[in-house]
Amino acid sequence: MAVAGVLTLLAVAYLVVDLGADAGDDDAVAEAEPQAQEAAGAVATTTPSSSVPSGRGVSTVAAPDRAGVTLPVGPVGEFLPAATSGGTVGTGPVRTYDVEVEAATGVDPVGFAGAVEAILADPRSWIADGSVAFQRVPEGGSFTVTLATPPTTDQICLPLNTAGILSCREGDRVIINLTRWLEGTTDWDGSLEDYRAMVINHEVGHALGHGHLGCPGPGQLAPVMMQQTKGLDGCVGNPWPFPGP
Ligand SMILES: [Zn+2]
Repeated sequence: MAVAGVLTLLAVAYLVVDLGADAGDDDAVAEAEPQAQEAAGAVATTTPSSSVPSGRGVSTVAAPDRAGVTLPVGPVGEFLPAATSGGTVGTGPVRTYDVEVEAATGVDPVGFAGAVEAILADPRSWIADGSVAFQRVPEGGSFTVTLATPPTTDQICLPLNTAGILSCREGDRVIINLTRWLEGTTDWDGSLEDYRAMVINHEVGHALGHGHLGCPGPGQLAPVMMQQTKGLDGCVGNPWPFPGP
């Protein structure tokens, strides 16, 4: 019965995709991106998190993958917390956050947490105006940054249609799609490093309560809360909330 339930969940997820409703929050339009990548690294062996929401992305079957990533390399729907702390960055009111990685991604949770932490600690990120400070905690933060496989991202992000390639923010959870994290997208003409900064800043921006913005004018830097990989509308791509002069 459990397997049947999982299959039903997957069927619902892909039905939504197939209907073509583009409610996906961020990143590119849902085009096919032929890819032949290997998820990097060995499967982490950290104790699974006990904070996995019930009914969210729980599966023990190899879900079909729309983006061509070879999955899974570890248990699907099992999330591994980074389980380490970071320092507080910024001078504003502290927002705690924790980081977790789906085991099936094969990505080291501590390494991913370090990358997220470096982005949020950058002086061009949300801490720049003193309105917020960040502290990474082992578990139970005010929001969670999750790296997940495309099928799991699709499940967690419902009813948004992430179509196997997009990332989203769902409640207090920021879900980053593994494929995009590893490869970026051809709809972003900057570096992979900048793409990662853009998607983390954008989705964390949602967790902080920020909505979408449009291009303020031709030739200007795009606001980080613009859905930049869906079109720049004359703006210049920008991964930072406060890019400076
Ligand atoms: Zn968005």
